Order: sequence, then structure tokens, then C-alpha cells
Amino acid sequence: MYGKGIAKGLFVTFKHFFNTYVDDIRYAGRKYLRQDNFQVRQGLQPSGAYTVMYPEEKIAVPERFRFVPFLVVEDADHPERPGEDWCTSCGICAKVCPPQCIWIVRGTNPETGRPVPQPDAFYIDTDICMNCGFCAEFCPFDAIKMDHDYEMASYDRTTAHIHDKKRLSKPLSYWKTIAPTRALEEAVERGQWEHNDIAKAMKKAGQPTTPPTPENMWLKPEPPAQAEEPAATPKAPAAKKAAPAAGEPATDGDKKPKFDKQAMLAKIRAKKAQKSD
Ligand code: SF4
Ligand code: SF4
Repeated sequence: MYGKGIAKGLFVTFKHFFNTYVDDIRYAGRKYLRQDNFQVRQGLQPSGAYTVMYPEEKIAVPERFRFVPFLVVEDADHPERPGEDWCTSCGICAKVCPPQCIWIVRGTNPETGRPVPQPDAFYIDTDICMNCGFCAEFCPFDAIKMDHDYEMASYDRTTAHIHDKKRLSKPLSYWKTIAPTRALEEAVERGQWEHNDIAKAMKKAGQPTTPPTPENMWLKPEPPAQAEEPAATPKAPAAKKAAPAAGEPATDGDKKPKFDKQAMLAKIRAKKAQKSD
């Protein structure tokens, strides 16, 4: 019969049109708020047609979503290492980056001139970055992660999209917020919520570690009461450098202090602060 196909097509169109409103009623007030709602509406069997009124409305991105990378740093209220970099400037991310858009300047000890495991500068040209996530996959210290913030448009065509270390740095709590499952999986691999180096140092010192669970995800790290014994010896000379007037002798003058990353970083920071004064 002539026109049967047209009628069939119109019926499908009308069904979609009708389902759009049925779905809107079903998800009224909560359509973009929950992850599973989003997955249903963006899944293989969406119902109806709908428009997201961006930028007023924003669809929640799934946890595995990846945009440009950011660098993980300790939270500002960390009892021992507030704002400390997780990056050790090993350079692996820069090596594996396919379009070579990462530049790292490794930190050096101003006294000895020897390299230290901390970046002095870290740049990513986000216009070149293709969001592949290789840097995050290969980083052995979980120090670089893929961000969910995709609103980066600007009118500047020069350097606005070359992100420096300050702009790239985001606290660990941010990573836990945008990717709680991944953050937990990584922490379980490390054995605790702390940085790899800290986890190793604690294990070496025989200090107890708490296995990461969803329940202790947001607990603040313990203050360094237990870590007093190994940390006290190397930290004493660092404090002396920061305050030149203090003339007290080191607490342990007989033994040569062991290498301590935190004490050394404190020294470098004190030196830099002196230079900038
Ligand atoms: S791989 Fe990780 S630790 Fe090494 S330089 Fe890159 S971000 Fe830093
Ligand atoms: S996401 Fe890919 S392209 Fe972007 S900085 Fe990382 S490795 Fe390079």
C-alpha cells in the first residue's frame, strides 16, 4: 500500500517525541544529578530525545572521563607535608607523552647542586595534549592524573593554555572526589593513602600502616607523633638553616644523619625563601 512506509516512519518519530516527555517526567528534578541516571540516558537504549541546556545544565561526567592532566599535591591541611608535590620529577611522563607536550625542570639542591626528587618547574601545553592519559598510566608515583575540568576555552592564543606547575597542582582530596574508585584502587596498591615514598619509609621504620578502605578515605593522616624517632634527627639541622640566629647544636652530633627527603626539601624551601627575601 502506498504511503505505508511514510506512516511507519512518522510513527517512530512520534514515539520518540512522546517518549521524550515521558522520560522527562520520570527523571524530573534528578535527571542529571546521579551517575546512574546519566548512564541510562547516555546508554545504548536512550529513550526519547533531549537537549542539555549547557552551560546552565551540565551532564555529570563518568569517573573514567579524562581531560588534560593535573599534578597531585598533598592537601593544605596535611599535618606533615602540606602542599607537597607527589611528583619526583623522574621524567617518565615526559618520555612517554606521544606529542611531547610535557616539560619538566628537575629541582636541585642549592648547596650541593645535586638533583632532588622534586620538580622546580612543570609545564604542559594543553593545546598540544591529546588527552590520551599515557602520562597518568605510566607515572610510578600516582602523581599525575587526568582531570574532569573541560571548561578551558579562552580568547588568548599565546600562553594561556601552557599550564605551569601552580596551575597544574591540585590536592589529593580533589582526585578522591572526582575519581573515588580509582583513588581507592591505587591506594590499595600502594598499601596506604600516603605517597609511595612515605609508605616505603613507614614500612622501613616499622610503623603501622592502615589499609585503605572507603571508610577511611576522608580521615586526616595521623600527626607525626609516631614518626618522631626517625624524623627528629635529620629535621633538626634543617630547622637551624631556616633560622640562622639559632645556634643550638644538632641533637645527634655523633652519627651521620640518614638521607631524609622531607628534611632536604625543608632545607631547599628555606634557602629559596632566603633568596626571595
Ligand atoms: S612520571 Fe610522575 S613522578 Fe615522574 S615526572 Fe611525571 S608526574 Fe612526576
Ligand atoms: S594526556 Fe597524553 S598527550 Fe596529554 S600530556 Fe599526558 S601523555 Fe601527553
